[in-house]
Amino acid sequence: MADPSIVRTRFAPSPTGHLHVGGARSALFCWAYARRQGGRFLLRIEDTDQKRSSDAAGLAFLEDLAWLGIDWDEGPEHNTCGGGEAGPYFQSQRLDIYNEHFDRLIESGAAYRAFETPEELNEARKIARANKQAYRYDRASLNLSDETIQQYLDEGRPHVLRFKVPDREIVVQDVVLGEVRLAPGELEDFVIRKADGFPTYHFAVVVDDALMEVSHVIRGQEHLANTSKHVLLQEALGFRHPAYAHVSLIFNPDGSKMSKRDKDKLLRARVKEQGLESPPVETGIAADAWAIWLKDKTIQLSTEQAVLLAEVLDIELPEIDVADFEKAGYLPEVLLNYLALLGWSPADGREQFDADFLCSNFDLDRIVKSPAKFDRDKLLAFNLDALQEMSEDEFVSRFRGWCEVHHPEYRRHFDEATFDHFARANKERCKSFLDPVKSGRFFLMDDEALEWPAIKPVRKALCNGEPSGLDRLEAMLPVLREVEDWTASSLEATFDSLAQEHAEGNLGKVAQPVRIAVSGGPVSPPIFDTLVILGKASCIRRIERCLENRDVICPGN
Ligand code: GLU
Repeated sequence: MADPSIVRTRFAPSPTGHLHVGGARSALFCWAYARRQGGRFLLRIEDTDQKRSSDAAGLAFLEDLAWLGIDWDEGPEHNTCGGGEAGPYFQSQRLDIYNEHFDRLIESGAAYRAFETPEELNEARKIARANKQAYRYDRASLNLSDETIQQYLDEGRPHVLRFKVPDREIVVQDVVLGEVRLAPGELEDFVIRKADGFPTYHFAVVVDDALMEVSHVIRGQEHLANTSKHVLLQEALGFRHPAYAHVSLIFNPDGSKMSKRDKDKLLRARVKEQGLESPPVETGIAADAWAIWLKDKTIQLSTEQAVLLAEVLDIELPEIDVADFEKAGYLPEVLLNYLALLGWSPADGREQFDADFLCSNFDLDRIVKSPAKFDRDKLLAFNLDALQEMSEDEFVSRFRGWCEVHHPEYRRHFDEATFDHFARANKERCKSFLDPVKSGRFFLMDDEALEWPAIKPVRKALCNGEPSGLDRLEAMLPVLREVEDWTASSLEATFDSLAQEHAEGNLGKVAQPVRIAVSGGPVSPPIFDTLVILGKASCIRRIERCLENRDVICPGN
């Protein structure tokens, strides 16, 4: 029998691809609690739903957990994590175990075979709907005689196994919510073994939590309604109840529930707005799949399809999965910190902390009941703080690693020293690793392809005044052509004297037209860094082209 004083928590995801914020928060709480209590954290893959895939793509969340720095003591092998006595940790490999326990329930009369076909059940549901009644399975199969059951089994009739729900109140003790009661008669006899022989989620979770000696189940409140079923099954099987802690749901700032379906929701709305009737070819979505996706709000596009469609529609998708935040340039330790605050806070009220602090302070009694709001601005502010606090060397090395994975075009474009310079020049203003990449596109462009958009700051710096920015550029170009030592310090000296000569010492008046000429816009890293990273030849050519395009940039001047 399990030692009740040993804390064992588990995270039990279904293999449906990447880890979303809600799942990550559950995993984090389970992990932190086990660490705090000197217990063990288990990872179990709930892959008994045959309709879902459990191939490698489905296990992408293992990478996400590793990226966040969450390791597990028992579970599927991954890097250094994994192994353990209570395996296998894939439910699909535990069917024999479930069968043993099904037999126990059949023998004790707590479960019975039900032979209704899906068509018959659908029909019964329809009738209930037409009569404006809630459908509840009528226990017809419970009254079959032993002979009839044997006859059906001999005929090989497909059937499910249902749990006979006792007619009494069910009480769930929850660490966060207190006592949660369910009145008698609220539950129907639910299915515990599907017609394909696989256990349902409810059954597998109860058996596994017991055999894996899980002491604390910490999970999202969306599972609260399931817990009454789990408690009944535990009683029928003679298992002890683990402690339950149901954590509040996570909401978007607009009050809607944050969901892995948010991306599809946004895409569907835009598709409708833009009147797109057939799938854009770039997305590779088939016409019939498109029609189904448009109608059925529970269907999600694949990550790739969603990204491609967002590109066609020219919209940014909200970050929902841990992998989205990684791609958007957030630091794993910052996301981990922020996730910990979604429903929990340390006793001393601090908001910014690292994993060690969390693991030494996390406790269930500081989990709150109230809904958690996912505030992206706050997360971004945390990320900015963490980036600012980093040493320059650490920043460069982590930014380089991130670019290698997510934006290799920058690594390919710059040589080692220039990449280093590019990274350092961006550290000061950067809120996420994505910022330099987004604002630095001009570095990668062909000199002949750069354009100057007709936006106010461009016109103001280049077209207005007497002399205008373009006039100043024209006057400065010959001087810049002569600069031999194209370094930040020598350019600074050159610009100082150009400012004296052309703008009464106002450096901005000479620097801003140059910045816009070489980058196409008003924002870039510090000007001398920008010029050095770009290189002399590109800078001169871009200024020349800017002057050549004078009539287009400043029409009528
Ligand atoms: N497989 C379930 C899920 O992914 C696990 C729920 C639980 O923690 O019991 O939601």
